[in-house]
Amino acid sequence: MAEIERERMEYDVVIVGAGPSGLAAAIRLKQLAAAAGSDLAVCIVEKGSEVGAHILSGAVFEPRALNELIPDWRERGAPLVTPAAADRFLYLTERRAIRLPTPPQMHNRGNYIISLGNLCRWLAQQAEELGVEIYPGFAAAEVLYDEAGRVRGVATGDMGIGRDGEPTDRYTPGVELIARETLFAEGCRGSLTKTLVARFGLRDGSDPQTYGIGLKELWEVPPAQHQPGLVVHTVGWPLASDTYGGSFLYHLENNQVAVGFVVGLDYWNPFLNPFEEFQRFKTHPAIRRYFEGGRRISYGARAISEGGFQSVPRLDFPGGALIGDTAGFLNVPKIKGSHTAMKSGMVAAETVFARLNGDGAAEVRRAIEASWIWPELYRVRNIRPSFRLGLWGGIAYSAFDTYVMGGRAPWTFHHHPDNKSLVPASSAPPIDYPRPDGKISFDRLSSVFISNTNHEEDQPAHLKLRHPEKAITVNYRLYDSPEQRYCPAGVYEIVEDAGTGGKRLQINAQNCVHCKTCDIKDPLQNIDWVVPEGGGGPNYPNM
Ligand SMILES: Cc1cc2nc3c(=O)[nH]c(=O)nc-3n(C[C@H](O)[C@H](O)[C@H](O)COP(=O)(O)OP(=O)(O)OC[C@H]3O[C@@H](n4cnc5c(N)ncnc54)[C@H](O)[C@@H]3O)c2cc1C
Ligand code: SF4
Repeated sequence: MAEIERERMEYDVVIVGAGPSGLAAAIRLKQLAAAAGSDLAVCIVEKGSEVGAHILSGAVFEPRALNELIPDWRERGAPLVTPAAADRFLYLTERRAIRLPTPPQMHNRGNYIISLGNLCRWLAQQAEELGVEIYPGFAAAEVLYDEAGRVRGVATGDMGIGRDGEPTDRYTPGVELIARETLFAEGCRGSLTKTLVARFGLRDGSDPQTYGIGLKELWEVPPAQHQPGLVVHTVGWPLASDTYGGSFLYHLENNQVAVGFVVGLDYWNPFLNPFEEFQRFKTHPAIRRYFEGGRRISYGARAISEGGFQSVPRLDFPGGALIGDTAGFLNVPKIKGSHTAMKSGMVAAETVFARLNGDGAAEVRRAIEASWIWPELYRVRNIRPSFRLGLWGGIAYSAFDTYVMGGRAPWTFHHHPDNKSLVPASSAPPIDYPRPDGKISFDRLSSVFISNTNHEEDQPAHLKLRHPEKAITVNYRLYDSPEQRYCPAGVYEIVEDAGTGGKRLQINAQNCVHCKTCDIKDPLQNIDWVVPEGGGGPNYPNM
């Protein structure tokens, strides 16, 4: 087939990803242009079928950045309706729940319990009213460079390429979005960000990024079990004390409760299954009482950037910058990243606006370091890595670092890459998980069903193995294929190979909820997550 030329559209700024960081950046750019009496063409591409479709968060939302961006958000009807009213921090043993003092970072007075997906939908309306063009259903699949190696935009993926790599009768070529500046706001472990980091050496001089996997369900519970504004966090059971993680339970409006479980991806036992840990956690007597007689509405999962201060890479490269979680501004002890993601988008917008207006020396990284993001992340930088000492060692060190050192200890702990932490299966104890009861706990397939995940089946797999044979020679033989367990959507299965009589890895790519865990945790980094056709993936209603 003759090559069809791609359509080309030109903008001042193109933003990849309509999460809080990308939307805040777009709004700030338009505000700055309006204040300067100039016009600026700004476009956002979003791989979800609509804005919010791929957004999954807790979420207790700290409104600091939103107050700065849209001070009259109340009058404009922002979906922040449930103020956080009470904080509880519990340590669980198998049967008991012991209340601990709430760490200062986890006090939520002044914050709101929200659906981040719905906040993004509202931010998208505000952006569109200012003239931002938003294209949901389009995945940015390729970074475009000029002859000098400067980023000059992105290309959206071709649609209608078949499983065999050949165009089908649905074929439509991708579109080139050309920009003077391109901001990458892809969220945790962005697929294009990976290529930029490699090409421009953006991680030279910073620690590796580290991650957690966050699983979440949204429930509607009987009114007597619902307490709007209640925020509960737990540590301890069912995780062993050498595995970082814990849960959240947020009571929203309309008898809804968001419940979630986070596991640090530096866990060592290949038999650990974050989904099963989450299901087991809900059966604890202190937790199941919230859900009995309730109805599960939605399920999903997403990785979280946990490296913080010492893992923030260089942000600038010729022609653009990284913003939000793809760079990694999440404050782990707070378990909050939306406010810093938004602020990073706003700061980047101001910097890029200056660059577009002739200030060639303006740098996003420097501007972020001068903003409130930097001291916020600096003060908590040692807390996450201190949990290498185990749960109690981490809690003790965190109390010392916070109360005695005030976050200003003259040392900084460093991070190690998460893919290096697994031990061989032969030296790890298998974990026996209880069977789901179908009322409080569930299996993975019925869970993925309510994430409304959908992908066009006739397309090349978007989960690529760099060395296919290593799925068996290394992952299976050495680690008992941990991807069978850490994938929250059951995408990876070891099956009998009828041809050889041995084993093979089957990849059910159509179930993928785009959490990015496999791209992070695979021991050899053999799995490369690339965008599927735009519009594919989960369709979260209000996660
Ligand atoms: C389980 C969990 C609980 C959390 N709880 C809280 C909380 O209580 N409070 C809080 O403040 N924060 C919380 N966070 C963190 C918060 O959700 C993130 O910090 C925030 O969403 C980051 O915003 P972002 O704009 O950087 O990325 P995201 O919100 O991830 O948005 C990125 C967007 O870009 C799109 N995209 C990615 N790649 C492409 C591409 N190549 N082409 C087109 N589109 C693309 C994605 O589909 C997505 O819509 C939580 C996170 C998780 C996972
Ligand atoms: S295939 Fe990878 S990105 Fe998709 S749901 Fe599974 S672990 Fe997450």
